[in-house]
Amino acid sequence: MSTTLNQPVTVVKGVGEEKAKDLKLLGIQTVQDLIEYYPYRYEDYRLKDLSEVKHEERVTVAGKVHTEPVVRYFGKRKSRLSVRVLVGSLLITAVFFNRAFVKKQLTLGDEITLTGKWDQHRMTLTVSEYKKGVQENSKPFEPVYSVAGKMTVKALKKMIYEAVRQFGDAIEENLPEQFLIQYKLLPKIEAIKRLHYPANFEHAKQARRRIVYEEFLLFQLKMQAFRKHQREQAMGTTHVVDHQQVEEFKKQLPFPLTGAQQRVVTEIINDMTSPHRMNRLLQGDVGSGKTVVAAICMFTSVKAGFQAALMVPTEILAEQHVESLKQLLEPHGLTVELLSGSLKGKKRTERLERIANGEVDVVVGTHALIQDDVYFHKLGLVITDEQHRFGVEQRRVLRDKGENPDVLFMTATPIPRTLAISVFGDMDVSIIDEMPAGRKEIETYWAKHDMLDRVLSFIEKEIEKGRQAYVICPLIEESEKLDVQNAIDVHAILQQHFKSVRVGLMHGRLHPDEKDQVMEDFAENKSQILVSTTVVEVGVNVPNATMMVIYDAERFGVSQLHQLRGRVGRGEHQSYCILLADPKSEVGKERMRMMTETNDGFELSQKDLELRGPGDFFGQKQSGLPDFKVADVVHDYRALEVARDDASNLVHSDSFWKDEQYLPLRMYLEEEGVLSGEKLD
Ligand code: ADP
Ligand code: MG
Repeated sequence: MSTTLNQPVTVVKGVGEEKAKDLKLLGIQTVQDLIEYYPYRYEDYRLKDLSEVKHEERVTVAGKVHTEPVVRYFGKRKSRLSVRVLVGSLLITAVFFNRAFVKKQLTLGDEITLTGKWDQHRMTLTVSEYKKGVQENSKPFEPVYSVAGKMTVKALKKMIYEAVRQFGDAIEENLPEQFLIQYKLLPKIEAIKRLHYPANFEHAKQARRRIVYEEFLLFQLKMQAFRKHQREQAMGTTHVVDHQQVEEFKKQLPFPLTGAQQRVVTEIINDMTSPHRMNRLLQGDVGSGKTVVAAICMFTSVKAGFQAALMVPTEILAEQHVESLKQLLEPHGLTVELLSGSLKGKKRTERLERIANGEVDVVVGTHALIQDDVYFHKLGLVITDEQHRFGVEQRRVLRDKGENPDVLFMTATPIPRTLAISVFGDMDVSIIDEMPAGRKEIETYWAKHDMLDRVLSFIEKEIEKGRQAYVICPLIEESEKLDVQNAIDVHAILQQHFKSVRVGLMHGRLHPDEKDQVMEDFAENKSQILVSTTVVEVGVNVPNATMMVIYDAERFGVSQLHQLRGRVGRGEHQSYCILLADPKSEVGKERMRMMTETNDGFELSQKDLELRGPGDFFGQKQSGLPDFKVADVVHDYRALEVARDDASNLVHSDSFWKDEQYLPLRMYLEEEGVLSGEKLD
């Protein structure tokens, strides 16, 4: 960063201590911060035709006062003035809040210009600014900034203007010329000026395009450089693979692998063979068959002389994985063992010993795997299932249990491609994008709670056919206790309703042995309905279950609903998912509709992301996304892809590390600590 631009804001003319304090509230401390404090939107004062304006859009229109204004007061300070205004051929209502004085200024028949937010359904404009007469604003296009403290937008604009005037010359171009030419991007200083003082919409758009690309390129450069550094510096485990043996193993599986499974297995094994540390994400929708992929990789690792570990978020899942892995691996002479929290005392000590001396080849477990007293003899491969449920720290601890084992993260939460390349830009990604043949689409219905009776008779019919059903209970956020109570209540109601069938009950407060029993009963069709909290969300596999009923579905995230739905549709029978929901908001309704319209997890997550924005998607902190000033990973996705490819090409080219023209970018990487490897985890 240039020293000039790095000076405190107080060097800008007209910015004193007082103003500097307010600026600090906005995160502005240096001259550069101030110059790069961009408007978050533009006010468009051009007169519009209301027929072209969308619901809730801000707009400026001209019209004629059609009725006497009416003012209503609320308490001492608050008022609402409404007046009918003829705009073109439309008679609309203009509403002014807390500006009763406007009444005196409006006379029947007057021409006025109004700016505000348009409510298409109520044909109402909530006015923020108005002027007498029909006139376009002298500046039809005005930037709008967020402000804090005592600062006004006007004062802020003035400070920015001063900062640019005094120090604009110090802003250096940081993008290589080749990209400016190739993408017809504005020079940096030009873009900055146009963002602050656009002459028209097109200006602002071009300026924005330039900054978006720059932000993405820098971000991706950092990611790609990390990744390159990591691959080169971080030694992993070199698996010497007997490919013949692996092929034999694949042939003996109970089913042929899908093309996608074949592909990801090759990708992963190639990575394991290389001396670099594997740091790979395996994404595959629920039911796409990740377990068998994990099994093949673990087989490969063990046959190369190592141990492999699989870490999963819940005990139920751990047990289930142990079962399926035993079936797949034991016939080939591998020892598979469970290490869970419920394993105690002498049994635990014994098992730990066998893990430490290498008698156990494959260890499956929950968090119990990362306890201090767990040692491996020679850990070569670590796999985590449902990786998003483990924190970075937990994953690191597990990895440190070996000497740089190769690491594979599996997730069934389809991360929209958009986010995947942002958040996991420093990881390699393998995607299983194909379902095993013969799967039937799950039919999903959205029912209101008052249709519960019909839902119950639907369940009854399925049970008569010999099938089984899951009923997921209302979710009460952050209160496991209430969740449990809900499950108990629903269980009682259903058992009462379905007198002749057995209804199982599963929740987090059960003793591990009880959980096992409940799961086993359901798996063996000793109970036909399983009432549960979300603990069955991940991994559970009971192919005879064909119904998934979810109470209060609007309280769940789309990806969670999709996960739950993935518990059915695992066998030969047609399966159904019923969402009991009375969502209040439009977004909530839209999410229910999305669920009924597609079974594709990737499509769902992409749509959900568009609906919610990236912050909400992961929770702001977890997303790992930097705070872009202008860019938006969802809407500017194409630019992000382009920038990612450019960044990757750059860091892998020799000239990038030598040529003069890339100096600003190299300096950026230096400042970010990427080149020294400081920021590596
Ligand atoms: P997930 O990716 O959700 O972990 P699983 O690994 O549990 O999926 O697989 C779901 C089901 O599909 C399992 O019953 C598994 O045996 C089966 N399966 C996996 N791969 C195939 C395949 N290639 N052909 C047929 N069935 C498969
Ligand atoms: Mg799984």
